[in-house]
Amino acid sequence: MRQAFRVKLTIFRRLVIGYLIILAMLMAVSASMLFELDNFNEITQSILKVDNQLLENEKKMSDALLSQILYEKKYLIIHDDALYDQFLIAKMDFNKAFQNSLTLAADDDEKKKMLTMIHSSFKQYQSVFEQEVELIRSGKKYTLDKHSQMKEKAVNAIMDELKNIKAYSQNHTYEQIRRLETAMADAKKTAGLFVVAALVLGLLISLVITRSITKPLSSVINKTRDVSNGILKGDLKVASPPELGDLSKAFNMMCERLKKLDYMKSDFYAMMSHELRTPLTSIREGTNLMLEGAAGEPNANQIKLLRIISEESNRLINLVNSLMDLSKMEAGMMVFNFGCHDITPLIKRAALEVAPLAASKQIKMETTISDKLSCIKMDDEKIMQALRNLLGNALKFTPEGGSVKIAVSNSGGSVRIAISDTGPGIPQENLGMIFEKFQQAQYHMQHNIKGTGLGLALAKNIVTAHGGKIWAESIVGEGSSFIFSLPV
Ligand code: ADP
Repeated sequence: MRQAFRVKLTIFRRLVIGYLIILAMLMAVSASMLFELDNFNEITQSILKVDNQLLENEKKMSDALLSQILYEKKYLIIHDDALYDQFLIAKMDFNKAFQNSLTLAADDDEKKKMLTMIHSSFKQYQSVFEQEVELIRSGKKYTLDKHSQMKEKAVNAIMDELKNIKAYSQNHTYEQIRRLETAMADAKKTAGLFVVAALVLGLLISLVITRSITKPLSSVINKTRDVSNGILKGDLKVASPPELGDLSKAFNMMCERLKKLDYMKSDFYAMMSHELRTPLTSIREGTNLMLEGAAGEPNANQIKLLRIISEESNRLINLVNSLMDLSKMEAGMMVFNFGCHDITPLIKRAALEVAPLAASKQIKMETTISDKLSCIKMDDEKIMQALRNLLGNALKFTPEGGSVKIAVSNSGGSVRIAISDTGPGIPQENLGMIFEKFQQAQYHMQHNIKGTGLGLALAKNIVTAHGGKIWAESIVGEGSSFIFSLPV
């Protein structure tokens, strides 16, 4: 289920999902910040709106009460109704501030209790004074002291409760400020945690998404490298993301097609080689028989022509043999008989084989073999073939009176064989391509030296099949060295 889900997610969807997750995390961080800000706002508002205003109203009530006391005292002395009116105005001020306080303290039972006590003492103070006013207006006598004491008691009770309210509001303010401080510290911590978590998660998601794209991509890159090295397996297994899955299918189809073409080409070589070799061998053998006089004694001209036919058919048979071997090697159908051998006898045999040709061109041959050579795991007949090709080239390209050297030595974990000549050399830009089949250095085409362009390709295939390396070094005009190393 999970696998199927993963397979269906295209690169586009993966990226979009990744971005959406990161966006959602950023939104969550912002939402938590907004929530915290709301919390701060609520606390600040409670300080500003409730506590501060309550303190203001407390001040208004105490001011109004003091004004009332002042007007009431003056009224008792001079009995002026204007003072009584002022007393009533101050009473209204007090009541207004009281009502405001009551609204502000709606949620706080403690404050409400204090305000109720203020209200009842205030009512008592008012009623005592109203009684005094009535007595004065009706001209009746009354005891000033008794009323004064009653009023004083009520006023003191009001003042005490107002003080209590003030203290209570101040305390409440301090408490709210402390709450604000803790809330801020908590918010800082939470925000920090949220940001770190969002960063880590974002990073992880990006890593997972990027990896899910780059991992299959690197498989495609590796397989492409294999193809460029001639390995046409076509076994690339990439299912997800779907775009790369399609690419992998197309890649495998391409490998299959290339493999088929390769086989077709090798088949063609093999078939053609077989079809050509049989009649060519008949021509050569027939020519040799005629040269030996099997069809009557040939004259001098006939011998000359028969020899040319024999040489050319020999050259053609060699070309066909080389083509056959090369196509077999390229198709991976060549059988190698590996065994642990010393290369010395092979070198000596190869030098002996070419000795007559060297002598006919007055080319000096020199062979240097270091004392103790390591044993090489090789197919000696195939290595002999490579040696023949390299030595054959050296003698072919070296002019009369030149020299050809063979040097064999141990080198690190391998045995190194170098064949150097004093031929015309090879231009630097041709040193790599001459190992490709049918490739000849431009320089020699001008010298009209015959060749097929297969000898070095065969030698390279043989050496590579042994896990070795082959290369050429040369200075134009001075000579060339063909070197190969075989692991021991
Ligand atoms: P060919 O049959 O043409 O010699 P090879 O594959 O053996 O085919 O060699 C390819 C080409 O490499 C030759 O045509 C020649 O241009 C160059 N070459 C090979 N060996 C030598 C050498 N010893 N000196 C100079 N050029 C060489």
